[in-house]
Amino acid sequence: MSPVSYPYEAPQSQSLFDRASVVTPGGVNSPVRAFRAVGGTPRFMVSGTGPYLTDADGREYVDLVCSWGPMILGHAHPAVLDAVRGAVALGTSFGTPGQGEVELAEEIVARVAPVEQVRLVSSGTEATMSAIRLARGFTGRAKVVKFAGCYHGHVDALLAAAGSGVATFGLPDTPGVTGAQAGDTIVLPYNDLAAVEEAFRAHPGEIACVITEASPGNMGVVPPLPGFNGGLARLCRENGALFISDEVMTGFRVSKAGWYGLEAANEGWAPDLLTFGKVMGGGFPAAAFGGRADVMAHLAPAGPVYQAGTLSGNPIATAAGLAQLRGCTDEVYATVDRVAGEVSGLVSAALAKEGVAHRLQTAGNMFSVFFTEDAVTNYDEAKTQEAFRFTAFFHAMLAEGVYLPPSAFESWFVSAAHDERALERIAAALPAAARAAA
Ligand code: PLP
Repeated sequence: MSPVSYPYEAPQSQSLFDRASVVTPGGVNSPVRAFRAVGGTPRFMVSGTGPYLTDADGREYVDLVCSWGPMILGHAHPAVLDAVRGAVALGTSFGTPGQGEVELAEEIVARVAPVEQVRLVSSGTEATMSAIRLARGFTGRAKVVKFAGCYHGHVDALLAAAGSGVATFGLPDTPGVTGAQAGDTIVLPYNDLAAVEEAFRAHPGEIACVITEASPGNMGVVPPLPGFNGGLARLCRENGALFISDEVMTGFRVSKAGWYGLEAANEGWAPDLLTFGKVMGGGFPAAAFGGRADVMAHLAPAGPVYQAGTLSGNPIATAAGLAQLRGCTDEVYATVDRVAGEVSGLVSAALAKEGVAHRLQTAGNMFSVFFTEDAVTNYDEAKTQEAFRFTAFFHAMLAEGVYLPPSAFESWFVSAAHDERALERIAAALPAAARAAA
């Protein structure tokens, strides 16, 4: 393998990054955007249309990040833009209840059967944080089980062995989270039901909830083994704990009813609470948590567990989210699934042609490549991959105008707007990238 090269310059992005680095820590507002894991100049994007992004240097990329999941219809989708224009014309925030919130909640409840009631918030982090508080308030218990490599946002109690940016930087934890905040968090290996059974045995009557990514995408794509999620639901039920399925990434992306629709609905079990974000906001800050009505009834003002938000259910965000969800038809999911299959097939074939050991892992229409020979079922296995090969692959793709997540531990995302031209551009970029990774 030759050393990684950054085959072209991005002077406008670099200049913006230099300015940003003066006024913003690390030059970015979310760590993985800084390209620390892969090196080089983070691209400052100025516009997006369909499957394409254009950077500050006027260069166009096929986008395989899709804003980390939300843009399932593609960038600047006309129906979403129309809805936003219509909402903006009426004012931007009232701090009162509004019709859009009711309609978005109804849309979510109609799509995901176990969600009898839902509360809107502004980020996935808020959704998981609030769901955990509610689980603790409902059960009167303190401890939370989470899995190594699962990321649920930057909630203090959940930043223990998290994936995503934390995995990228190789940090097992973060300063600023106190022992007390993390002390009630039990971190277990993903896909290990026996470890969960053991935790319930070791802490009888103490565990409020088990939270898991419905199908993890934050350590790369590592789907649940058959029976794992169902087993978690059963163990929670048997032990008086709540099962929280974090669908911030999978929700409304892998099917109309998210991962629940692909798995649980067919197996006859249901999470007690679910969290959502990304797709349901149509590119705006909207997220939610919801589930069993008897549990949700514990939330203020109906019940004693406090939770609130100045911009919760913001009219612009709810209008964008509603337009996007209504646009997510069966045909859209069929297209996104087909595109994901085609892109992952092309990637795998190109790497195989160059003899690069890899595993292409998929979960519905989410997928990622691990540069390793063996199947990856948990975070420890994910970390054994040869991430330096990803770095070389990433920069070669970027040079050819394909924008991948700037980390080997992230899901790749496509949209219904990824058409033949976009696929051709990906196919054309792959041979050089596969050679770079070899
Ligand atoms: N949960 C999961 C599964 C996520 O992937 C993310 C973000 O990537 C979050 C929660 C946090 O969401 P947000 O970044 O909107 O706070």
